[in-house]
Amino acid sequence: MRSRELLDKLISYPTVSRDSNLELIAFIQQHLSTLGYPSELVHNEEKTKANLYSVIGPADKPGVMLSGHTDVVPVEGQNWSTDPFTLRESNDLLFGRGTCDMKGFIACALAMVETLDKSKLATPLHLAFSYDEEIGCIGVRRLLENLKHSNFPPRYCIVGEPTLMQPVIAHKGKTAARAHCHGVECHSSLAPQSVNAIYLASELISKIQQKQRQIIENGTHDRDYDISHTTLHVGKIAGGIALNIVPNYCAFEFEIRNLPTDDPKAILDDIQLAANEIAAPFLESHPGAKIEIELTNEYPALNTSTESDIVEFIKQLTGANSFGKIAFGTEGGLFSRELGVETIVLGPGSIEQAHKPDEYIAIDQLGRCDAFLQRLKDALYQPVTTTN
Ligand SMILES: [Zn+2]
Repeated sequence: MRSRELLDKLISYPTVSRDSNLELIAFIQQHLSTLGYPSELVHNEEKTKANLYSVIGPADKPGVMLSGHTDVVPVEGQNWSTDPFTLRESNDLLFGRGTCDMKGFIACALAMVETLDKSKLATPLHLAFSYDEEIGCIGVRRLLENLKHSNFPPRYCIVGEPTLMQPVIAHKGKTAARAHCHGVECHSSLAPQSVNAIYLASELISKIQQKQRQIIENGTHDRDYDISHTTLHVGKIAGGIALNIVPNYCAFEFEIRNLPTDDPKAILDDIQLAANEIAAPFLESHPGAKIEIELTNEYPALNTSTESDIVEFIKQLTGANSFGKIAFGTEGGLFSRELGVETIVLGPGSIEQAHKPDEYIAIDQLGRCDAFLQRLKDALYQPVTTTN
């Protein structure tokens, strides 16, 4: 099985997000150039990582893009049975970091291009393999900047994140922020004369909890998601030096994971408003007391219409009648928002195995992805039809 051989190779590159992915990218570039296919790299500022972009076939027509990220999450602190960067087979499962998230899909894509007859391509195939997806869809944004200026951006995008090969049309967006709570320090015996930064933080955290309750009670619910509403969550906090000092600084990190129909900016504005109200009583007595909210990362939700052409296209290729919605984010939201490309998520393996020790993909899943991509290949030999 060719995709399995290629996966073996891809897993051997330990492309944890913090490290370089250039060796893996060079391997893919070599793979494509041996087949006579061009590709271009879009590097990060430091030139230590790169996105790879390739258009195979007639470049003056809108094509179908396969999108995947080449980085993986770290393995430190996880109890792996064997080396995470050596592919191991057991009971028809393939173990290794990145097998399901998401080098399995990339391996299938590289196997499929080996079987392409370029002269038959009526519709081009685009490949977009990114870096730094796992730390907030960072790398692909540079590629998107380039594609915005392209005369022939892709028409459809298939993001191969693990969905057990079930087509997915929507996922939540994410907004991550850090609240910097500035108090005024003093000896703890004089505590009422100053402003306790930890109190500022805890008041704001209570407001965030309140906001979550409001959303649950009165907000939008979409029962197609496991958690049917937008979620707010505080995940990390640090503040204070010693018990006998009223702390002058406390910071915490929180996130909003929004339904496509909810506006995370409006929620963040509400939280900033609450922060201002919490600090307001100190404005005159302690002008240094304040809460600043810093946006640290955001990516948009994906919300492809069931009426869109790509849904019809994927129906024909997969026979699927239902299209799912998932909780986890992908680069698909960015492709959809920034380029207006009709996007779905569809890939082998299960998100249940992602980011865990002994991550695996079932060989059967690779086989199903191979079969899907063969049907896609046949579809590319025809012009992509549009109904709208
Ligand atoms: Zn992923």
